Amino acid sequence: MKAARIVKPKESLQVQDLETPKPKGSQVLVKVLASGVCHSDIHLWEGGYEGPGGQFLKTTDRGVKYPVTPGHEIAGTIEAIGEESECLFAKGDKILVYPWVGDGVCPACRVGEENLCDKPKSLGIYVDGGYADHVLVPNYRYLVKIEDDMDINEAATLSCSALTAYNAVKNANLRPDDNLVVVGAGGLGLMAMQLAKAVTGAKIIAMDLEDEKLKQARKDGHADDFVNSKKEDPVKAVMELTEKMGADAVIDFVNASKTVETDMQILRRRAKVVLVGLYGGELKLNLVTMPTRAYRLIGSYTGSLSDLTELVSLANRKIIKPVVSDRFKLDQATEALSKLKDGKIMGRGVINP
Ligand code: ZN
Repeated sequence: MKAARIVKPKESLQVQDLETPKPKGSQVLVKVLASGVCHSDIHLWEGGYEGPGGQFLKTTDRGVKYPVTPGHEIAGTIEAIGEESECLFAKGDKILVYPWVGDGVCPACRVGEENLCDKPKSLGIYVDGGYADHVLVPNYRYLVKIEDDMDINEAATLSCSALTAYNAVKNANLRPDDNLVVVGAGGLGLMAMQLAKAVTGAKIIAMDLEDEKLKQARKDGHADDFVNSKKEDPVKAVMELTEKMGADAVIDFVNASKTVETDMQILRRRAKVVLVGLYGGELKLNLVTMPTRAYRLIGSYTGSLSDLTELVSLANRKIIKPVVSDRFKLDQATEALSKLKDGKIMGRGVINP
């Protein structure tokens, strides 16, 4: 099998010939047809991300080992199955992989939040993932069947991008009369807008620095209002759009010092701020306003397997539609990551091995 691997952080990915694994027990070998290119792949590639005080937090300190094959948004077909999984799936089934594999025994795993496992074994981060023509899935229960007519590239984006957006919308706990500000109108932001509209009915204000992304938020995200935070004062703009009340919730898909500083100034009492993006930095908090205005700061990371099955149900019925804008071949993996890093991917990029 071929895989595009990060051999050393910051270096171009290498397409390597590896031995194709043979699934044993409840393992399944999946033929990868599409693998999404995600912002967190950039951190894996760069070997870490910025923490407080400009400090660099290394992936190797979190248990990542190089070389590794990135790619955690994997859709494809079943190629081979271990002897214990035969009854549930058949060769050729069209499936989506839930990549947020946990150890199965920690308190998070016990309540079905494997994505928050104490000892994660996520595919494409700790274990080889989907930037390859094949991937070994440790157990058939991490597979979700998808409809034959679902676009395979769009399907791939469900397992991280859309899943993260869905869990973030759930964490915002919105009501139909709420105002929601979505910061960052990239792939995740667009999906969160679609989901919030479909599932909660909240009024959506899209915020971004680029008019083109806001235009797409109108078209694909079905947002109600738009704020270009480069061209206008975002605090003033949100206050005007919410009749001086502020937002009931903000979901921040950038999550940089600058965006969250703004978030904290546009909140109505009881507002929730859901932090999702992995840009990084730090925040100074006005501590007294936290209790007096009863704000809630919530971190949201991917989603559970049950969230994914709900999401696939929405996608199977075409209630949401992921936006895939760029397609790459396996040997273009470095180019794909560079393009994403430069903010030049307008929806989601996928690799077709
Ligand atoms: Zn991801």
